[in-house]
Amino acid sequence: MDTLRRSYAAVPTGEPVRLAKRTSNLFRPRSAPRTPGLDVSGLNGVLSVDPAGRTADVQGMCTYEDLVDATLPHGLMPLVVPQLRTITLGGAVTGLGIESTSFRNGLPHESVRELDVLTGSGEIVTARPDGEHADLFTAFPNSLGSLGYATRLRIELQPVGRYVALRNVRFTQLEALTDAIAEVTATRSWAGEPVDAMDGVMFSPGEAYLVFATFTDGAGPPSDYTGQGIYYRSLRRRTRDVLTAYDYLWRWDTDWFWCSSAFGAQHPVVRRLWPARYRRSDFYHRLVRLEHRHQVAARIDRLRGQPARERVVQDVEIPLDRTADFLRWFAGAVGMNPVWLCPLRLREPAGPGSARSWPLYPLRPGEDYVNIGFWGSVPIAPGAADGDVNRTIERRVSESGGHKSLYSDAYYDRDAFDRLYGGDTWRAVKDRYDPDHRLTGLYEKAVARA
Ligand SMILES: Cc1cc2nc3c(=O)[nH]c(=O)nc-3n(C[C@H](O)[C@H](O)[C@H](O)COP(=O)(O)OP(=O)(O)OC[C@H]3O[C@@H](n4cnc5c(N)ncnc54)[C@H](O)[C@@H]3O)c2cc1C
Repeated sequence: MDTLRRSYAAVPTGEPVRLAKRTSNLFRPRSAPRTPGLDVSGLNGVLSVDPAGRTADVQGMCTYEDLVDATLPHGLMPLVVPQLRTITLGGAVTGLGIESTSFRNGLPHESVRELDVLTGSGEIVTARPDGEHADLFTAFPNSLGSLGYATRLRIELQPVGRYVALRNVRFTQLEALTDAIAEVTATRSWAGEPVDAMDGVMFSPGEAYLVFATFTDGAGPPSDYTGQGIYYRSLRRRTRDVLTAYDYLWRWDTDWFWCSSAFGAQHPVVRRLWPARYRRSDFYHRLVRLEHRHQVAARIDRLRGQPARERVVQDVEIPLDRTADFLRWFAGAVGMNPVWLCPLRLREPAGPGSARSWPLYPLRPGEDYVNIGFWGSVPIAPGAADGDVNRTIERRVSESGGHKSLYSDAYYDRDAFDRLYGGDTWRAVKDRYDPDHRLTGLYEKAVARA
């Protein structure tokens, strides 16, 4: 902690403060730092797991990969495990994360009991749902490091079996799919079998799948999609499947959902030659960063006379009753596929009506949403500008009563951004914990790419 404090004190006033961290899952390109970042090298471990109390004390930069390695031997997992191995606990709490348990457990920050935060004023405070720093606790999710850095978090854990039994259910009508999500969210079961986790994939409005997952000790033998098999394709081929709990948690990491195809990694010959240790989202992310820097593919496209492309990498949350309409609109207007579907509802720890709200990402308590994820690019149409498709999506999301995550490109003007992301709350908490505004502001990070 002293190393962290010292490195914070060493950043000259007026210079941006950045984490000196090996991995990142942020997607927008950022300006290169001019000063050394915060030394967080000693903050990437699991401090303790309490199997009886079902909690863990974890350092802020601990990756979910390391966290799961520490909890699974106890038959436990965090309540929500984002799909990409190198997402850190602090990153998921400050930048939001989501996964297939979110229809019952909400988002990762909703199972945090307390967190230590290095604030902009250089102090370390412990924030809890109540008490002196409750304002920081409530404003921290979706603040993206603009209020302070989480150095330790105490989180809740839940039991998980050794295996996960999957049912891949096909839908040819989007309304039937959203009805099924409503039913499973309300009853936590489908066709008489319990559902512990649920997500899905839309290949087209006439072909979409929900995957109902049940944690169990008694299934097997498990499939393996870390080798030549490719997980997302299995949804079209199999109606039932089994994975180990470990492979289930990382099922989307091996091929970065389906995005590994952009690098040829799904071609049978390339896949056989591609070293298994590089079939991971952080490796693909490094390739994307190289492309951002050197623009090799963009230059080849230009030489071939292909139109320039707009990056469309977004996760949006749409109210369940508007989801079918949004998906049909998206298929026609944007046309990217596949699309990831992940139902969610703010956590209700003590039953209906007990959800808290989080001002910087104001989902409505008691309402069901579907997170819709699409990650790729589209050609820029003649006469259109880079960013136009993203702006159209932003408008449509707002018209649908939805929200957009901020890990990628955003184009809102400041007023709209303040309205959508709790600007008044953010400013009050910022003034209290970072009075000299040493940490980059939320709008500057999310929209201005500072
Ligand atoms: C293609 C793509 C798909 C994604 N899909 C999913 C998904 O399916 N599920 C999901 O859960 N998430 C998803 N994400 C989002 C991801 O969870 C967030 O971007 C998360 O913030 C990344 O965490 P990180 O640890 O890699 O943080 P970084 O990328 O390193 O940092 C993200 C931001 O958080 C700040 N930050 C990092 N650590 C801390 C800390 N300890 N305290 C305070 N601030 C901190 C940084 O300053 C930065 O502004 C996706 C992102 C991408 C790019």
